[in-house]
Amino acid sequence: MRLDVVSIFPGYLAPLDLSLVGKARASGLLDVRVHDLRRWTHDRHHTVDDTPYGGGAGMVMKPEPWGEALDEITASGEPDTAPVLVVPTPSGEPLTQRVAAELSAEPWLLFACGRYEGIDQRVMDHARTRMRVREVSIGDYVLNGGEVAALVVTEAVVRLLPGFMGNPASLTEESHGDEGLLEYPVYTKPPSWRGLDVPEVLFSGNHARIAAWRRARALERTVERRPDLLHRSRRLTLDTLGEVA
Ligand code: SAM
Repeated sequence: MRLDVVSIFPGYLAPLDLSLVGKARASGLLDVRVHDLRRWTHDRHHTVDDTPYGGGAGMVMKPEPWGEALDEITASGEPDTAPVLVVPTPSGEPLTQRVAAELSAEPWLLFACGRYEGIDQRVMDHARTRMRVREVSIGDYVLNGGEVAALVVTEAVVRLLPGFMGNPASLTEESHGDEGLLEYPVYTKPPSWRGLDVPEVLFSGNHARIAAWRRARALERTVERRPDLLHRSRRLTLDTLGEVA
């Protein structure tokens, strides 16, 4: 998968060199290219923002540098290919595991990281005439810029790439999987720590009992912490919810 990220703070994307994402880059599974938006400015001050039409506080990112950046980056791909433009914004569609899975099936993602009050809307409107655009929110709060959101989306997406996880079994039974439940609580050695014991059933070696215990805990946790997920889950029925009662 190819990932391009455009930002006025390319240094913010340094974590893309670390951990599993860094390893995936080193192994060739990921081709990551970080670009400084100011490269596509032409004035002495490398200006990327201006005052908003209609008034109001803050500044808006100018369309010209973005237009040139997207033109040059998209032209650098194979003929007849275009990236999916991913624009982090608090007014975008919520990032979910489903959105991450959809993006992980794409060969090329191009992230446009906004700052200030955001990017002039015409950049996304024009890009839509040439490529698919996904405006994505990582949550109902406001960050200073799109860089951290681009890192979040990247991490959620690339861990779903075949060959990314050393042990792909780690991806099964996770929170927000097919059934839409949260994951059950997990434990490791020692069996007793600060007066707290690992639940007995986990030592039983009885796989069916362990699976039933884990499912009950997953349901219980989801009911307690995220009842909204139960409403969304297509695979849960009233019968299965009865398991937690
Ligand atoms: N004025 C914008 C609004 O109210 O929707 C917020 C702009 S925010 C200060 C600057 C940039 O941070 C946005 O353009 C976007 O790239 C990023 N950002 C902030 N919150 C975000 C979120 N929840 N999800 C994704 N990106 C976010």
